[in-house]
Amino acid sequence: MKKKNSKVLILHTGGTFAMALDPQQQADRQDQAFLSSLATRVPELQEIAEIELEVICNIDSSDVDCTLWQKLATAIYERWDRFDGCVIIHGTDTMAYTASALSFFLAGLTKPVVLTGSQRPLAELRTDARANIIDAVELATSGHPEVMVCFDSVVYRGSQVTKRSSEHLHAFAAQHSAPLGHFGVHFNVNRSLMRPVVARAQRHKPSLDLKINPDIFVLDVIPAAPLTRETITVLTGCYKGFIVRGFGVGNLPLKNQCWLEFAEAATACGLPLVIASQCQTGTIDLNSYENGRALAQRGAMSGHNMSLECLSVKLMVMLGREIPFAQRHDFFETSLAGECGEVPV
Ligand code: ASP
Repeated sequence: MKKKNSKVLILHTGGTFAMALDPQQQADRQDQAFLSSLATRVPELQEIAEIELEVICNIDSSDVDCTLWQKLATAIYERWDRFDGCVIIHGTDTMAYTASALSFFLAGLTKPVVLTGSQRPLAELRTDARANIIDAVELATSGHPEVMVCFDSVVYRGSQVTKRSSEHLHAFAAQHSAPLGHFGVHFNVNRSLMRPVVARAQRHKPSLDLKINPDIFVLDVIPAAPLTRETITVLTGCYKGFIVRGFGVGNLPLKNQCWLEFAEAATACGLPLVIASQCQTGTIDLNSYENGRALAQRGAMSGHNMSLECLSVKLMVMLGREIPFAQRHDFFETSLAGECGEVPV
């Protein structure tokens, strides 16, 4: 699929992709060394598009923070006229969080932004890095205006993807939707889900909103494990928003009154509390059972069918944008970047 005159900007951030085989080399890997290794090991990238490469950083993605998300969105925004599509090389561990953050920061996207990485370094035998970067660059020339993750021949919406394996090359899954496309013998787009290509003349700059506040806390509920009043006091004193991952459609224990007291205390302090589930598929429904209704009555919100990655970033964005507490439900009901399952408009 040679796209004449297509330009792709590749932003490198780190992860397994660029790890060198030799530990000595790994310690002092240089930006330039990585750039030339990409050119040597994957020369066919130049056949797909004119490539511009930039190393933003070279870190394990467990060290990614809001500053990197803002840096990436700003880099894309500032270089907008220089590319048809952008590829971000990123560690797989937190790729889904970065994809969600970019989906919210860059509203009204009119060009593809594709995140990829690999489970084995580019320099190793049997690497998945080569195929992943080739697919990602091809996808970046496709014109589909989405933040996407492209991995092991599958294309996912950035706001719906989750890392599911640290072992298999098929490392990602879509949380609650079919993938947007597949690279097989051909590149097959799921047209009912993928946003249509925007004509070149209409590829205007997206809007950039970098506001974010990461002061959130995520709790997993375990049967019989206690939540105490002391813990509630500490949590509501230290954090600005909460996600509680309960059971099934969003049920928490009622026998331990502290969960209800937690919801009441959060609401009294004007702190959003979102209910998510430990289930991998399905959606939150706080009306199905008394255990969910009691929480909703005390101001808890539904996390719907969003992945934890997307849900936590959306909560941070809500806090960063200082959405008034009374509008928190509307903010979570509204799909800003296709995170609630449908194609974003
Ligand atoms: N620890 C690595 C990272 O996320 C794993 C990977 O890239 O696959 O940076």
